[in-house]
Amino acid sequence: MSESKGIAYIQGRYMPVDEATIPLLDPAFTKSDVVFDVVSAWDGAFFKLAEHLARFRRSCEYIRVRPPCSDDEMCRIMAECATRSGFDHSCVYILCTRGSYAGGAATGDPRKSENKFIAYAVPYYWIVPKERLNSGAHLWIADTRRAPDAAINQRVKNFNRMDLTRAQFEALDAGADAPVLLSTDGFITEGPGFNVWIIQDGKVRTPGDNLLEGITRQCVFELCAEAGLQAEAADLTAADLQNADEVFISSTGGGVIAVTLVNDKPIGNGAPGITTGKISDNYWKKRAEGWEATPLADLLEPEMPQAAGAD
Ligand code: PLP
Repeated sequence: MSESKGIAYIQGRYMPVDEATIPLLDPAFTKSDVVFDVVSAWDGAFFKLAEHLARFRRSCEYIRVRPPCSDDEMCRIMAECATRSGFDHSCVYILCTRGSYAGGAATGDPRKSENKFIAYAVPYYWIVPKERLNSGAHLWIADTRRAPDAAINQRVKNFNRMDLTRAQFEALDAGADAPVLLSTDGFITEGPGFNVWIIQDGKVRTPGDNLLEGITRQCVFELCAEAGLQAEAADLTAADLQNADEVFISSTGGGVIAVTLVNDKPIGNGAPGITTGKISDNYWKKRAEGWEATPLADLLEPEMPQAAGAD
């Protein structure tokens, strides 16, 4: 049997993720008319499930789609996808698509579409190459700017990623691991799949505007508060990033990851920062201890007891 690439739930059925498709005329494909979220499942438990679901619901409300299932049903489907995939660690995607227009037409009134819920589990991934976890990542401040909130509200988790992808090309062409995008006002926003942080003179700071408010970003605020570190959202420039004592990124895909190079400028002494290391260690230590963990088994449908004498 070939190795599992993951399991998807689509059109009411579970299937291998590489067999799952959406119709060509679904506006999710033709117009990126879809919102999503990504939850990690680690050693049999989801992390911060309620926060992810709440953000997903906010995203749905913003683009005016309604998943055709309750939170409990969504959680059960997500747990099924993760469990059936058989990975020790996975990322579970949930999507609500606009769904086809009335009569299956290619265009139409978005209010009259039939919204769809899709979920799938894939192996857990790190947002930068895994070997960078020890050495630190190389970020690239891209020329491409982040689409402003006034056009695309980046607090809504969306697939309108032309800016992120163009910036990713810039970063990879320059030999870096990932880009950071500035806003049209010239402030640091975020990168594809992660929030950005600096530590300067003992203060931990992260941008506050024109970005997705990551669940891991929220974790970092919590971890800083526990450790007695001052942490705040602030406008940060490219110079703030390059001249910081420490830089790190936060993401569901990897937790807290040190950055040691921004463009051609080593950060601090060029090694992963000590405070960053403590925040990262605490993040994984607390997760191992069951921090905000929801066991998948608690979400699955209970098995029906077998009737006496049944095969
Ligand atoms: N920013 C963007 C654009 C993202 O896509 C993501 C996550 O995928 C993040 C930030 C980090 O968010 P989280 O910590 O919830 O994974």
